Amino acid sequence: MAKDKQHTCSFCGRPHPLLIMGEGGVSICPDCVQLAADVVKQQTASKDRAGIPQLNNVPKPAEIKAYLDQYVIGQDEAKKTLSVAVYNHYKRLNQTTDDEVEIEKSNIILVGRTGTGKTLLARTIAKMLQVPFAQVDATVLTQAGYVGEDVESLLSRLLQACDFDVKQAERGVVFIDEIDKIARKGDNPSITRDVSGEGVQQALLKLLEGSIVNVPPQGGRKHPEQEFLHVNTQNILFICGGAFDGIERLIGQRLNTQMIGFEAQQSTKKLDKDNMLKYIAPQDLKAFGLIPEIVGRLPILTYLNPLDRTALRSILTEPKNALIKQYTKLLGMDGVSLSFDDDALDYIVEQSLQYKLGARGLRALCESIMMDVMYNVPSSDVKQYRVTLDFCKAQLAKADMLKLSATV
Ligand code: ADP
Repeated sequence: MAKDKQHTCSFCGRPHPLLIMGEGGVSICPDCVQLAADVVKQQTASKDRAGIPQLNNVPKPAEIKAYLDQYVIGQDEAKKTLSVAVYNHYKRLNQTTDDEVEIEKSNIILVGRTGTGKTLLARTIAKMLQVPFAQVDATVLTQAGYVGEDVESLLSRLLQACDFDVKQAERGVVFIDEIDKIARKGDNPSITRDVSGEGVQQALLKLLEGSIVNVPPQGGRKHPEQEFLHVNTQNILFICGGAFDGIERLIGQRLNTQMIGFEAQQSTKKLDKDNMLKYIAPQDLKAFGLIPEIVGRLPILTYLNPLDRTALRSILTEPKNALIKQYTKLLGMDGVSLSFDDDALDYIVEQSLQYKLGARGLRALCESIMMDVMYNVPSSDVKQYRVTLDFCKAQLAKADMLKLSATV
């Protein structure tokens, strides 16, 4: 029996005249070698698909939203839309090409006032997907040949975020903020030389629709010999954001002309006039000055609500890395237990509303309040520190609110 065993393959157990012997008496037959080689080949091939996660590894839309909920307060509509868009994006990456149906790229545009969480949403999505993330203001971009950054610089930043790993960058997320600032101004684009407007939109188009772009590796000491990196933007998810100041008026005009007569009276009554953004449609973006091609390349359109008192109050304490949690952690590292009175937190929110500082202002306000505490407490014997309403009032009375507003 022992002799027989020596002539059988240790993997498939079958006898074979040609066996490759290994350490410890194991052996492998040529069939198993072939099989192993095929497995390795398949594995490498699927990795080569730019490390695209298989669909069963991608979280479902409800899971994506639940993740966003941990960091972003409110904005349910935007979170839901974003979750579905990201899930579909990964479906698209995994699609087979054996039928005629081709799932198209689903770049996203978020419309909402500044400081309502557009960047936070995009950043949080990237964090969850564990892909490189780059953010750029559309205002710094100019048409090629003009002073400013070419649109390709978006991809340079993405490459920098992943240490110039092109394959990683090719499945990253790019957030283009202030897209509204490159809207076409006026109705006569052919005469005006619109350096930062339509020209930039045209240049952005090729990135958004998916093409191979030559990217100068800015500050790329790692590639001194290489002039350009070639980045395929096909699988990069572009999320654009903008405040689109005044778009409510255009939405209103469209809704008015769409609705005529008695029915119109009934319907306009039902309109939520305080939040017209919720009725936003692609044609409003065109009316604002985005060229139709760009609007077409940003098929997922959603909006963010203005942040009210309740939302601001929650932002202070609820998100996973809420400001108050951060201060508590900072002082905790000095062995000091920090607490805030409820009316002190309400006061901070109140100030933010009064000076129209929004969510961004919360940090500036908290910094002003906490600066002295963070300066003095570590070198004292204090083990507990309670932030009261009176203390907040006194600290903010010392702060220059005008200067503070300017930092937001
Ligand atoms: P936007 O891109 O819309 O101008 P940001 O996403 O940069 O605004 O928001 C600025 C800051 O305000 C964020 O870093 C975050 O701390 C806070 N913030 C804004 N909106 C929210 C929100 N909905 N939930 C939690 N934090 C928020």
